[in-house]
Amino acid sequence: MASDQRAEPVIDAETARKLSLFRPLGYQRNTCGYCKSQTGTAAYYASSLVVQPAHYEDLVNRGWRRSGTLYYKQNLQRSCCPYYTLRLDVSTFRPRRDHRKAVNRWTKFVLGPEYIRKAARLCPRTREEKKRRKTKFDLLSAVHEVEYGNIQRPVDPKTKRPLEPAHRFEVNIEGDSISQAKFDLFVKYQTKVHKEDVSKWKTKDFERFLCTGIKRSPASADSTEKKLGSWHQCYRLDGKLIAVAVLDLMPNGVSSVYIFYDPDYEQWEFGKLSAMREIAFAIEGSYQYYYMGFYIHSCQKMRYKADYRPQYILDPESYTWDPLDGELREKLDRRPYVSLSHDRQQASEGGDSTAPTTEAAPADQDEEDMSLFDLHMPGVMTVEQVKAVDLGHWLLLIHGSFVHMNDLVRWEEMSMRSPQSVKGIVAELAATLGPVVVKESAVVLFD
Ligand SMILES: [Zn+2]
Repeated sequence: MASDQRAEPVIDAETARKLSLFRPLGYQRNTCGYCKSQTGTAAYYASSLVVQPAHYEDLVNRGWRRSGTLYYKQNLQRSCCPYYTLRLDVSTFRPRRDHRKAVNRWTKFVLGPEYIRKAARLCPRTREEKKRRKTKFDLLSAVHEVEYGNIQRPVDPKTKRPLEPAHRFEVNIEGDSISQAKFDLFVKYQTKVHKEDVSKWKTKDFERFLCTGIKRSPASADSTEKKLGSWHQCYRLDGKLIAVAVLDLMPNGVSSVYIFYDPDYEQWEFGKLSAMREIAFAIEGSYQYYYMGFYIHSCQKMRYKADYRPQYILDPESYTWDPLDGELREKLDRRPYVSLSHDRQQASEGGDSTAPTTEAAPADQDEEDMSLFDLHMPGVMTVEQVKAVDLGHWLLLIHGSFVHMNDLVRWEEMSMRSPQSVKGIVAELAATLGPVVVKESAVVLFD
């Protein structure tokens, strides 16, 4: 396909290692997993086995998210249940009463009544300490004090042995590799909690879904270097794996991908426990934001995300962040698609910003065949903007080697607006990825 196969390599090995790779899959309509509408949701898709954490962060902040190796960006305007990206600024997080309660209940369970009674006698807290604990909930100490390594074990004068808690609880961060224990736990969780027919889950599918994430560094979990990429936070009780939280660590944020836990421990509210632990992890690791995935305002099951405050919603058009409060919340109660930046612009142009001009458009039969540029998908670059990023010099990985787009025969003659041409396919990918990622990535085609 390339016009000159014997050319010098277009990039060196060092640069190649820093690239993200994307295979465009295009725009598709699908059944909505929330309201079950047949063709209710529409998104642009790409797949990848290599995404750099900084690039993923840029994509997340443009409304993308991943499911295993599949990356997608929903068309919020043409979907029944728009997926809003939300994030929490961890430095200002104030846990609610029920969040604090979940953490304290778990600590009580792990320590057990006997330990608590004896410890109060053998290593009593000072009056100041008692007062402080009563009046102030310290998130970091609250999540860590229950870990076995942090538990005081004074010698019990009666038994002459260290006082042991009822359970030995440990949490470790590990690479996102697959293990039999993780797979067994996942299957048990999907069966009992999600009532799923687990015969459909093979180890390979599980591996692709939760054990193949963004590029991880450093190599060792013990390193003091800032962790980036996809990791598993593993919870063990008395040596047995009871929960796994899948995390994507980005330079400025922790993104919660999934949590699966042993349903025997369902009463301990692992959703809350893991969120609290991950927020603490973000604070300690200097990641500014905590991302709980998408937020669907119309979906009752997702309302709990808004309870972790202060939450901010990504504006689908301007990519700025608005508090999930006041004006935004009121508008979301009234219509599915809201872009405050769009409303403000309309208002400044004299339009009626309260009119539901941007209500979810009905599914168009030919939508999948249309050019993304004609669909006017919110937040996607226009043809003019794509022209400015110099697509001709975007890297293309073809049969294992890199070339430039304009090395392709007839590249110049092709039109960006023609969705079936290579140039059209590449331009749509560029328009959804955005200018930063385009400069530092390559496209995978033809193999
Ligand atoms: Zn829906």
